[in-house]
Amino acid sequence: MDHDTHSPDRRETFTRAPSVPFDPNARPPVSVRAASPGERPPEGLRLGDLGPADETEPNIRPALLGEPFDDPVAPGSVRCIACAHRCVLRPSRIGICGVRQNRGGRLYTLVYGQAVVSQAEPIEKKPLFHFLPGSRAYSVATQGCNFHCAYCQNWQIAQAHREGRVPESRYVAPETAVADAIAAGVQSIAYTYVEPTVFLEYALDTMTRARAAGLRNVFVTNGYESPEALDLLVPNLDAANVDLKAASDDFYRHVCGALWEPVRDTIVAMRERGVWVELTTLIIPSLNDDPGDLRAMAEWIATAVGPQTPWHLTRFQPAYRLSGLAETPAATLVAAAEIAREVGLRHVYVGNAPEVEAAATICSGCGERLIGRSDFAVTEWHLVAGRCPRCKRSLAGVGLEDSPVRP
Ligand code: SF4
Repeated sequence: MDHDTHSPDRRETFTRAPSVPFDPNARPPVSVRAASPGERPPEGLRLGDLGPADETEPNIRPALLGEPFDDPVAPGSVRCIACAHRCVLRPSRIGICGVRQNRGGRLYTLVYGQAVVSQAEPIEKKPLFHFLPGSRAYSVATQGCNFHCAYCQNWQIAQAHREGRVPESRYVAPETAVADAIAAGVQSIAYTYVEPTVFLEYALDTMTRARAAGLRNVFVTNGYESPEALDLLVPNLDAANVDLKAASDDFYRHVCGALWEPVRDTIVAMRERGVWVELTTLIIPSLNDDPGDLRAMAEWIATAVGPQTPWHLTRFQPAYRLSGLAETPAATLVAAAEIAREVGLRHVYVGNAPEVEAAATICSGCGERLIGRSDFAVTEWHLVAGRCPRCKRSLAGVGLEDSPVRP
């Protein structure tokens, strides 16, 4: 993909919003282009503050979860409460995610419908193994992310604003995304590849339309949603794969620029509110592969989320700022899976490591093989009405009644 094909104008939108230096001796400010049509701008904005976009920029729209912030030295500031960063944005500033901006004293999203990914894929690729197995999901992503993980595997789109890049994108309206998804024969839409909370408005508009069309909605998320964002999402959210990067503040702070506690809260809240949750941990040599830390993570999952929660342990591939690290050895992945099973987790999978055979679902009651998988495809199905054919124990998950494997 060529990442530099966009016009200089669009590059400006994402990466070079003008800063507004504070001048304590400034004359009373004059506001221009600072209001939504027909409304007075907030007091105190300065010449040059950005207002709403014009009709040629349908991707720039008023955002949800922005609130006025009383900053005596920067009138017209707003706070975004979409994620746990709760960024305070002075006029014209852009949030940590790079795609939400204070324009004229109001919060705007810069990426509504501006899709960098829109394609059908196996749901197993998300990965979700206990949610509509064998089905396909229509993946949607814009650019931007509220984490800056040093090992980001999708950094070309997630970290684009930090790297001065403008990924190739196209405008895909929510109704178009849903129509394309239906045409592709999928059962769900997945908001994925970057943290979907940063394109909350686009996701919500697509989610409501998807539900009305009989599709499910799936978030592949870092779990940094604010409770306010969760309130908006949960009514239309069916499943989530949450990236559990570690079980320590240290890791989250130093490697991702975030905190661990909000992630914990989101995982538990999703589970309590009826969203089907699976967890993924990318095991990175020397950073989060300590057996004691892995045990602590597994124990937290077992007690706070439940032992039936599928946990995907995936191999790190050298990427982005950690390109110098080696990939995760198979032995580390196998040992991590063993720890998780010792702790009592019932469904532990190893991903991105074909030589480790740990992609099948095994009955936690009697050890019977229930679902076989290969290359993100379901290849065997032994469940009977969602239960083990031998001991009759039901398998936790969604959509496990009918076999997707055709004879
Ligand atoms: S989504 Fe999070 S990172 Fe982005 S502006 Fe809002 S609070 Fe900041």
